[in-house]
Amino acid sequence: MHEMSICLSVVQALQEQAKVHSYTRVKAVWLEIGPLAGVEPESLLFCFDAVAQGTLAEGAKLEIVHTPLVAWCMTCSKNVNLGNRFDGCPECQGRELQITGGNELRIKSMEVD
Ligand SMILES: [Zn+2]
Repeated sequence: MHEMSICLSVVQALQEQAKVHSYTRVKAVWLEIGPLAGVEPESLLFCFDAVAQGTLAEGAKLEIVHTPLVAWCMTCSKNVNLGNRFDGCPECQGRELQITGGNELRIKSMEVD
């Protein structure tokens, strides 16, 4: 399952970071997810609890932060936020858009002990 492997790599990253920053317990994690990352937040939350068991992240709260879909409009030379990838530019209704952001999947911050 896609979400399962994402959770595994998140917990792995937390363990790596623990060595560097010498913490022993993760209390909360904020994960940034873009609309194009293809991640189901519900299953991510579910998997995370299972994967975190027995690790330093056991019982940690996973907070999902949704990032916007960002595109570069060639008509008005601006970065614009799109509601979905098939929308035109909200400023000029132009269709010459290049998606520049929206597939983020990264740890934004965390609370540790
Ligand atoms: Zn535009």
